[in-house]
Amino acid sequence: MLKDYHTHTFRCQHAVGDVSNYAAVAVQRGLKVLGVTDHNPFPDNRWHNIRMQYEELNQYEQAIDLARQTYPGLTILKGMECDYDRDLLPFYREELLGKRNYDFLIAGIHYFPANGSWTGAHSYIKTPEELTAYTDYLLEAMMSRVFTFIAHPDLFGSSYPFWDEHAIACSHRICAAAAALQIPLEINAHGLRKKPREYPQGTRYPYPLLPFWEIAAGYNGLTVVVNSDAHQPEDVGAIAQALTLVEKYGLKLADLSSLEDPSRSSLAASPLRNE
Ligand SMILES: [Zn+2]
Ligand SMILES: [Zn+2]
Repeated sequence: MLKDYHTHTFRCQHAVGDVSNYAAVAVQRGLKVLGVTDHNPFPDNRWHNIRMQYEELNQYEQAIDLARQTYPGLTILKGMECDYDRDLLPFYREELLGKRNYDFLIAGIHYFPANGSWTGAHSYIKTPEELTAYTDYLLEAMMSRVFTFIAHPDLFGSSYPFWDEHAIACSHRICAAAAALQIPLEINAHGLRKKPREYPQGTRYPYPLLPFWEIAAGYNGLTVVVNSDAHQPEDVGAIAQALTLVEKYGLKLADLSSLEDPSRSSLAASPLRNE
């Protein structure tokens, strides 16, 4: 049964549709689980033009509740795609997973500190030093144990132009950590819906980065999750092409079914976090 653990809503200002619109498509396509994971707001409303505002949290949660009532046959998980910042761990842990009872959080490293400022992973990883800074930050997010899986770990491929020794080393660090910490890595289908781009070594999608997943396949115990990262309702469940990578490289799919258990306490949302 198809499951999709990574979708957005209009609130992030670069997606369209509300939870119910995404849920309607999920039901139509026979999905069993829909994870709603819009980009997190920050209590200080930083980077506010690509995410909901902190004041919209209640309304976001109400939209999820409403869709749950409208589509009782679909398991809708209340989640969030979080930009990592260690200062915000209490917000993620105590407010979102705790007080607000989120089912799960995922980490997407869209920004990381490098050269004394926040650097965007989509467009500004140009040097080996920036690539290392991205990787360091991603590993720190993993080690926080707050996140159920890591969204598009190979996003660095969007801006780092080469598949070279540095890209290989960083891929090994990410995959080794994921296997050791037992945190699934996401093959993100959104990258495959973008236009292939010209890079010095040829035309390819910005991500997923195929050699990254080839490396991932070499790590025993590493598991993957394949999601649409839909920013419009019609993309819910659009993961067929990304799923072929699982087969191609012999990757192992993660089992996230414990998220669907309504009896588990909010703090046990991730089976990994209590270790
Ligand atoms: Zn987005
Ligand atoms: Zn996303």
